[in-house]
Amino acid sequence: MAVMLLSVGTTAGVVAVTAGPALADGCYTWSGTLSEGSSGEAVRQLQIRVSGYPGAGAVLALDGAYGPGTKAAVQRFQSAYGLSADGVAGPSTFAKIYALQDDDCTPVNFAYSELNDCNSTWAGGNVSATTAKANALVTMWKLQALRHALGDQPIRVTSGFRSVACNNAVGGASSSRHLYGDAADLGAGPHTLCQLAQEARNRGFAGILGPGYPDHDDHTHVDGRPSQFWSAPNCGVSSLDGGLDPLGDN
Ligand SMILES: [Zn+2]
Repeated sequence: MAVMLLSVGTTAGVVAVTAGPALADGCYTWSGTLSEGSSGEAVRQLQIRVSGYPGAGAVLALDGAYGPGTKAAVQRFQSAYGLSADGVAGPSTFAKIYALQDDDCTPVNFAYSELNDCNSTWAGGNVSATTAKANALVTMWKLQALRHALGDQPIRVTSGFRSVACNNAVGGASSSRHLYGDAADLGAGPHTLCQLAQEARNRGFAGILGPGYPDHDDHTHVDGRPSQFWSAPNCGVSSLDGGLDPLGDN
């Protein structure tokens, strides 16, 4: 990134103002470079931001340990944004993340309100409100990666977190990932439902349900369930034996 120096003053002295990467961010500020072998909360915060870059079929562990998987995810993130792909999270990587996030830590193209049209508290689901909201944040970063991979065109979220009451009202399954805050239903336009389902395979979503799966011809569902289940038969998206969703999700 170019560094601009502004010289101000006369014989009394010169003040140099550096206009480079943001030195602080409303959400979270990293205090130093991170690389393989680093650990702690700073790494975990980084992992959340690059969780949409785990590689095909993979899910990045948000464990605060900067191992080979995190390095590879950082490299994919760097490549996606035209940065030097060294797998080291330094100033240029953090500057890109700062540019991509709002002060509430959500990625710029998604919002908590968009992931929850059920209530304002995130309470009443199958996990605590804090956990549901944290799960939604990770899902949003994966959606941001999905959005970027598909050419930075808008992605429309039609349903996110649901309390038990909201889930019952729409006829959701009792074990639906919407009750955990990590699910999102995506509508078509400008992308097709199949484009969304297919690219979601590369973006850290363990759960993908789309066209051809029962009740999923009008949206593509993605989530962060513990083990992989993909089924969008009309899109060529499947995992394992392609049987019925063990969660009965929708
Ligand atoms: Zn759904």
